[in-house]
Amino acid sequence: MKKLTILGSTGSIGVSTLEVVSAYRDRFQVVALTAGSNLELLKQQIEAFRPGLVSVLNADLAMQLDRMLTGPKPEIHHGVPGLIAAATAGESDVVVAAIVGAAGLVPTAAAIRAGKDIALANKETLVTAGRIIMDLVKEKGVGLYPVDSEHSAVFQSLEGQSRKDVKRIILTASGGPFLNLPLENLLRVSIADALNHPNWSMGQKITIDSATMMNKGLEVIEARWLFDTPAERIAVNIHPQSIIHSMVEYADGCVMAQLGVPDMKAPIAYALTYPERIPTGVKPLDLTALSGLTFMAPDYRRFPALKLAYDALAAGESMPAVMNAANEVAVEAFLKGKIGFTDIATSIARTMDNHEPRSIATVEDVLSFDLWARGKTRELLGLS
Ligand code: NAD
Ligand code: MG
Repeated sequence: MKKLTILGSTGSIGVSTLEVVSAYRDRFQVVALTAGSNLELLKQQIEAFRPGLVSVLNADLAMQLDRMLTGPKPEIHHGVPGLIAAATAGESDVVVAAIVGAAGLVPTAAAIRAGKDIALANKETLVTAGRIIMDLVKEKGVGLYPVDSEHSAVFQSLEGQSRKDVKRIILTASGGPFLNLPLENLLRVSIADALNHPNWSMGQKITIDSATMMNKGLEVIEARWLFDTPAERIAVNIHPQSIIHSMVEYADGCVMAQLGVPDMKAPIAYALTYPERIPTGVKPLDLTALSGLTFMAPDYRRFPALKLAYDALAAGESMPAVMNAANEVAVEAFLKGKIGFTDIATSIARTMDNHEPRSIATVEDVLSFDLWARGKTRELLGLS
C-alpha cells in the first residue's frame, strides 16, 4: 500500500490524481490533502478518501471547513505551516506536488527533507530552485518522478539507455491557441481566447503559460535540472497534435519517443507506480484515425516568452526565479483584465532587465528574489 499526500488536491492535476487513486484503492491510501479555497470539493474528497490531515489557505477557511464537515474529521491545518505538515506527514510515502506556482516550492522542499518520494507536477519548484532541489534529492536519496507529460516522456525515453549517449532532449509543444493567428492580432486576444487550449484541459495559470509558450520555457528549465542536461542540448519542437509527448535523440542518430492520447492520468499513474504500468482508462491511441503528425520550429516573435526562459537559464542563479515570479504576476494581471496578452512577455523582460543574477544557496534566498520580482513587476505595470 502506497500512502499519498496530495498538495493541491482540488486542482486539475489533484483531481486527475484522485481519479487514478480511486480506481486502485488496494494500492493507494490518501493520508493528507491540501487545497486553496475550494472547500466544497475538498469536503467531497475528504468524504471519499478519509485523509487524516488536510490543510487550506488560511484560518478562516479552516474554521469554515470544520463547520461544514459532519462525521469523522481530519486534523485541519492552514497556511504554509499546514502545507508543510501535510508534506511531511509521518505516514506518507509519496508526495504529489500539484500546487501551482512558486507556492509549491516550500512544501516540496520540506517533503524531500522529510525523505518522501515526490511525484512532481509543480514545475516552478525546479524552475526557481533547480540546483538546490536536485542537491537535496541526492542528499536524501528520495525518488523524484516527473508528472509533467513532456518530462514523463523524456524519463520513459531514457529508460534502459546510457545517459552518456544522449545527444539532445526534444520537448514537444502544442503551440497553444494562437499558433496560427496573424501576429498583429495577438495584441487584441481576449482572456477567453487565451484560456481556450486546443488539446489539454488544465488550471488557468498553466493554460495562459501555454498560450505564451512560457510553459515550454519553464519546461526547458525543468528538464535542465531533472535530466542534468545543458540548455544547448534541449530543443523545442511545436507539434500541434500533442501525440508525441517528447523525445530523446542519441549519439547514433536514433530517437526514442513516447506517444499517447493527451491525458494527464497516464503520466500521473506512471509517476506513482514506476517501474510498473497500470491501466488508467486513458483512451487507446489509434494512429490510423489521425490525419497526420506535424512539427515546426517555434518562432520567437510569436513566442518571446520561450526565448526569455532560455535567456534566464543562460543568466542562471537567481534569474529563473525572477522570471518565474514576474510571469506569475503578469499572468494574474492578464487574467484580471488589467494588461493585454503581449504585455505578459514584455513585463517579464523588463523585470529581468532590472535584475543582476545573484547566487542562491537556500530556499529562503529564492523566496527573497521571488518577492523582489513580484514587487518590481507590479511597480512596472503600475499595479500596486
Ligand atoms: P490548478 O490551478 O488547477 O490547481 C492548483 C492547486 O493548487 C489547487 O488545488 C489550488 O487550490 C492550490 N493552490 C494554488 N495556490 C495555492 C497556494 N498559494 N497555496 C496553497 N495551495 C494553492 O493547477 P494545475 O493545472 O493542476 O497545475 C498544478 C501544477 O502542475 C502547476 O505547477 C502546473 O504547471 C503543473 N502541471 C499541470 C498540468 C495540467 O495538465 N494541469 C500538466 C503539467 C504540469
Ligand atoms: Mg507539460
